[in-house]
Amino acid sequence: MTTPRSTYRGRFAPSPTGPLHFGSLVAAAGSFLDAKARDGEWHLRMEDVDAPRCSMAAATEILRALEAFGFAWDGEVIWQSRRTDIYAAALDQLKAAGRVFPCACTRRELADSAIAPDGAAIYPGTCRDGLPAGRGARAWRVRVKDACITFEDAIQGRIVSDLAREAGDFILFRADGVFAYQLAVVVDDAEAGITHVVRGADLLTSTSRQIFLQHCLGVSTPSYAHLPVVINAAGEKLSKQTHAVPVDISRPVPMLFAALEFLGQRPPQELSGASVHELMAWATAHWQLDQVVRGPALPGGQNPAG
Ligand code: GLU
Repeated sequence: MTTPRSTYRGRFAPSPTGPLHFGSLVAAAGSFLDAKARDGEWHLRMEDVDAPRCSMAAATEILRALEAFGFAWDGEVIWQSRRTDIYAAALDQLKAAGRVFPCACTRRELADSAIAPDGAAIYPGTCRDGLPAGRGARAWRVRVKDACITFEDAIQGRIVSDLAREAGDFILFRADGVFAYQLAVVVDDAEAGITHVVRGADLLTSTSRQIFLQHCLGVSTPSYAHLPVVINAAGEKLSKQTHAVPVDISRPVPMLFAALEFLGQRPPQELSGASVHELMAWATAHWQLDQVVRGPALPGGQNPAG
């Protein structure tokens, strides 16, 4: 193994379910600039663990768009779809430590459960002490017990989560045979030695679960900074589902300029006529994390560059 040149290791981890849009550009820019302004590394991970929802075409398009916008990543791109053995080993470690249990419950059986803030059912504990007679394991869940997680987010401030109330025993291995996002992210961030996670505030509720899993697996916890999420005029997060407009790779400067402004940075107007590399160089040299608005979401146009 080579020794990292710097102590800061950041990452951007898009799910290739569709093309890059203004919201994902903001997350890419925030994580990239925070890393590069601190002379750090910025790694790229394709979160394609949920293969049926992802496509190689979308992944290729994201890579092309990132290049066009002047993002250069360190090392090889990591593909989650090629790492299931590593996730299986982590789950085995948790099985051996008695931290997880098999669950036979179907979605329908859980339909009456309380709902977590992120919309998922809070597990009522049916299989926690053993599978009901005659039932087989469908999924694997982690035992949350009374875990309370507190962390300092570099943008959003102190976050306190009562995991039993907010998430319950959450899934690590799904009934459809796919490792859950929460497990994959924790394993990947730990293995890549990620020290700083900068991403959208829609993932704040996941962060407490991920810190809990880091404790279960005995790996270190990175620093977190959650950027406000870009919402459209209807108040919805920009995404494929809300028909966010893909970034225009033939004209990257206006959208990158808008992404910097969304992040509270103030690029001088004359840079709107500069090259994308000049704009990125300015943004790296002038990046100020404390200018990013503290809050879960902020409006940003579907295509603010017009
Ligand atoms: N793949 C996730 C997404 O695109 C991001 C995960 C992360 O940054 O931890 O929303």
